Amino acid sequence: MNMDVLVSLSKRRGFVFQSSEIYGGTGSVWDYGPLGVELKNNIKRIWWRDFVQARPDMVGIDASILMNPMVWKASGHLDHFTDPMVDCRECKYRFRADHVDAMPWVHYCPATKGNKFTIPAGEPCGHCGQRRTLCPNCGKGELTAPRQFNLMFKTFMGPVEEDAAVTYLRPETAQAMFVNFDNVLQSMRLKLPFGIAQAGRSFRNEITPGNFIFRTREFEQMEIEFFVNPNARVDGRPADEYWHDRWIEDCMAWFQRYGLSAENLRLREHERDELAHYAKRTVDIEYRFPIGWSELMGIANRTDFDLKQHAKWSGKSLTYFDEERKEHVVPFVVEPAAGVDRALLAFMADAYREEEVRGEKRVVLKFHPELAPIKVAVLPLLKKRDDIVAAAHAIRADLARHWRVVYDDTAAIGRLYRRQDEVGTPYCVTVDVQTVGDSERGEAGDSRVTIRDRDSMEQARVPIAELGAVFRELLDGAPWRQMSARYPAPPAKASGPSGER
Ligand SMILES: [Zn+2]
Ligand SMILES: [Zn+2]
Repeated sequence: MNMDVLVSLSKRRGFVFQSSEIYGGTGSVWDYGPLGVELKNNIKRIWWRDFVQARPDMVGIDASILMNPMVWKASGHLDHFTDPMVDCRECKYRFRADHVDAMPWVHYCPATKGNKFTIPAGEPCGHCGQRRTLCPNCGKGELTAPRQFNLMFKTFMGPVEEDAAVTYLRPETAQAMFVNFDNVLQSMRLKLPFGIAQAGRSFRNEITPGNFIFRTREFEQMEIEFFVNPNARVDGRPADEYWHDRWIEDCMAWFQRYGLSAENLRLREHERDELAHYAKRTVDIEYRFPIGWSELMGIANRTDFDLKQHAKWSGKSLTYFDEERKEHVVPFVVEPAAGVDRALLAFMADAYREEEVRGEKRVVLKFHPELAPIKVAVLPLLKKRDDIVAAAHAIRADLARHWRVVYDDTAAIGRLYRRQDEVGTPYCVTVDVQTVGDSERGEAGDSRVTIRDRDSMEQARVPIAELGAVFRELLDGAPWRQMSARYPAPPAKASGPSGER
């Protein structure tokens, strides 16, 4: 599948918009629209529920984006979080120094009276034989010598723009867990191993961001720092190594549980020479994105590097007292770190299907019900009948106490189903003439509605009074077949929402 399909669906249906689009946008920054924010909140909510609330060995924090700048000195970000960069003196374009030779380059050829050519990356000019020396973008400017460019966003605290008040937007959420290690340990009376989790925004001034929401300058992370006793052993192995493998398995399983297919996931072990200076071992979970296999999350063994650094720079002891061995230890930390935006992109890409139904194309996002931005859409079969419309509104209001539920009467029923398919709504409820009856003819309604299942497109006729219980089961993961076996399919009458059966 192609990224443009997702970008276009995202804009058309309110998932993701370009930031400040009416002003021409802003570089690699995106806004989540009405459905995007629901999807993103759902991802963060189930992550928090599964990895924080459900676990006895995990607690959460919500730290500030602005921190004492000494944090970034101690963590190494001030000195080492850099990319080599060159600028064009003419067009002012900025490049990663190590990417320049991998770009096609603009050339004004002296052998052809200065005609302009764009030459493929790494190749010489076919007319004069020159290789690129100038700016690949404009073909005129000299490039500066490479400089190290820090990826942190610098900002100023307080009213005066002076050096003393320089601080940074955090480039990762992790450091807040390290600097709060002792606060959390003491206030919560925790025993190793335990984890501190946080979901929040981070900022990196990437020189070459891109690929939609895959790499952005402002993004959200879901990070866990899982502290273990480096002297303990589990199953005959050092505790940090055991827990590293456990976290890799648990994270893989989590992504599959909510819809990523196994064939689109793989593990990638970092080579020794690409390991961060603090890491003993790092494994990425890669996903087959529309742009190819790329990192979805990383799970690193950061050893005791961070706690030791912060102890050194702050002068505060950041140790744990092991009651059994009667010794102070600096815990090792295993860090499962996921990007929310990337997870969202992966879930969307994996859910996307184009199917053929009775000779027509159906676009459907087969989201796991927990992820779906809208859980149920309530649709009146005839919007001219006030009693049908009133019943539909009442059902929506009742269900909306528990879930995101919408009402829509702006098209014919087949069209409304397709719209909900395209945004991944797992169930539709249709209110029809049989539901409310016909008072003029003295016919009573049956107070039942039709539920339609997104994936199978099957229908079942369910009493209104049982809708809450039925959706509680279905949205909790009960299979459609199990539920539909208890209720009859609706009669295939002309007046019924026979839709696509
Ligand atoms: Zn230039
Ligand atoms: Zn030439």
